[in-house]
Amino acid sequence: DGSASSLFAYRATAPAGEGFVSLSSEVVVPLDPLDWSAAETLVEIAGERSSRLMLEQQRTRTAEQARNSVLMAGSMDMVVLVDDARVIREALGAVSRLGPTGELLGPGGDVLGLFEEPGPVADLLARSAPSRGRVTANLVGSDTVVEVTVMNLDSGESTVSLHDITDRVRLVRALNHRATHDELTGLLNRSGFAAAAAEAEASFLTDAAPFGIALIDVVDFHLANDSLGHDAGDTILIEAARRMVEMVGDGATVARLGGDEFALLVTGDEGEIAGATRAALSAFDEPMHPSDVVFTARAKAGVAVGSAAMATGGRTLQAADLALAVSKSTSAERMVFFRPDMREAVLDRMAASSAVAMAARRREFRFDYQPVVDAADGRTVGLEALMRWDKGGRWRYPDRFIPVAESLGELTSIFRAALGPALAQLAEWRVRHPDLTMNLNAHAGMLDDDLPRWLLREASRAGLPLSAIALELTEQSLVPVQASTSLGALHAQGLGVYIDDFGTGWSNLSYLAGLPVSGIKIAREMAFGERGEEIRRPLISAAVALGRAFDLDIVAEGVETAEQLEVARELGVDKIQGYFFARPMPADRMTQWLREGDAGPDTD
Ligand code: C2E
Ligand code: CA
Repeated sequence: DGSASSLFAYRATAPAGEGFVSLSSEVVVPLDPLDWSAAETLVEIAGERSSRLMLEQQRTRTAEQARNSVLMAGSMDMVVLVDDARVIREALGAVSRLGPTGELLGPGGDVLGLFEEPGPVADLLARSAPSRGRVTANLVGSDTVVEVTVMNLDSGESTVSLHDITDRVRLVRALNHRATHDELTGLLNRSGFAAAAAEAEASFLTDAAPFGIALIDVVDFHLANDSLGHDAGDTILIEAARRMVEMVGDGATVARLGGDEFALLVTGDEGEIAGATRAALSAFDEPMHPSDVVFTARAKAGVAVGSAAMATGGRTLQAADLALAVSKSTSAERMVFFRPDMREAVLDRMAASSAVAMAARRREFRFDYQPVVDAADGRTVGLEALMRWDKGGRWRYPDRFIPVAESLGELTSIFRAALGPALAQLAEWRVRHPDLTMNLNAHAGMLDDDLPRWLLREASRAGLPLSAIALELTEQSLVPVQASTSLGALHAQGLGVYIDDFGTGWSNLSYLAGLPVSGIKIAREMAFGERGEEIRRPLISAAVALGRAFDLDIVAEGVETAEQLEVARELGVDKIQGYFFARPMPADRMTQWLREGDAGPDTD
């Protein structure tokens, strides 16, 4: 076949005394089995010849492609005129483009011979004249897809127009694939999975085909992603996807819904669903090796077994989601099955979601303010802005509505909408209290690259220096920030950065050195116990010592009693916040509070 490698293969396998070297299909040279030097020469010639052949083929192909694209650009359409027996009279247009199929187009041919499945075109031709119809069809022996328009004329003849839509079909297919698949792992993505789940729900309702959905969350993924970098994170996700597909085999479809969340769609009964989920979880039993380190991930699963009630509303995925939330927050079990008594919570949450989305559009969120006082003299030196939703009923407080807003992706917009009025209010307070600062609670989504732009803009619009504002971040959300330069840059321009709930998160204290931090807020639970029932002096002094070492502003949160206040002062805390001084209050009461603080002598 003209390639040097097959000649060498021949040399190795030719039985003694016979053989031919074939340089191309036409050239066959008898080979003296003893004359290997002659064979070697032939090999050389063949090698040269084969590269020449390849070059030539390549040239021809390029020329062909060029010609095709000219034809394509020139004439996309072909029209075939057929008589009442479907026999071709004439063909007009880019017939040659059809290649071998084009030959079928000559006069006397059967027009139906053109199509892989001639049925639909035949049906159109069989309609009584005058009529017009259109179908999509594949041309026989090629990948070409055409739109076929048939017009039956009164004369008994018909025209069959072919319009090439191959590129369009391919494009649509490629776009569909992209829209439904995850680029990183090649698995189905959220919308692809939602479609598959909807299909399973439909066939459950029509044919009672049992199915289930499992959501799988890689619990420690963010730790690896944050500390090892995104490349390592990607490696872990790809490896996890590969293993899961391997472990569950043909029994289930694996998808990646985004981030570290995977999903399984299992067709089968409860036992099979549990089996597939267990198999997928076992993908995390063995450690992974992103970059040079060993990473052992833990994964948790929430499972929903298909039921008529859930399938009817298309809520199986949500049910699995809730079971996953239960598994992550409360259970030691790796796999939690959704139970109907969890449904109330699901429905409740759904109702809240739409209410929060609507409230966000109506700008119903605003801040209450809680004073932060100087530990030495009780003067109000700062405020913490705490978001409220007055019309939210029992969803009024952030612990309720923030997770919902976050899952809707609305938190940043809600926060920004409330920020403008709050900063204007701060500017007004600072007229009489020029050193007053305001702490804002930050969430991870807010720390995107856009943060400097809008925070700076809002501050300058209110006429505030950046040093009048501080962001409070939790340890978990702060550590990944190390990589993001935006917060560091703002900090350099005066923005305060506090670690919120200090002592409840990582407490791997080495990170403090590398971060743009101005202060810590000692978590109430850490200092005073889960319900504020004790005073943990050693923990408080450890936090204070640490804060001192890094030259940080130290705030004690959740101080409710005189005794707690006394200890916090004694142990060297700089500032105090808590119900002992004041609860969070609306802006007008805060104005009054500040005025009273002005007027009278300090409490101490
Ligand atoms: P956090 O940042 O730890 O805020 C302090 C919470 O403790 C506030 O609850 C406050 O009312 C409460 N608190 C203050 N002093 C005391 C005290 O002496 N005893 C007790 N038991 N509690 C006290 P709130 O306002 O319900 O806020 C809860 C959480 O919601 C906040 O916790 C914060 O993480 C989040 N949050 C509030 N506003 C926002 C916001 O605008 N954006 C974001 N991302 N999160 C917010
Ligand atoms: Ca806070």
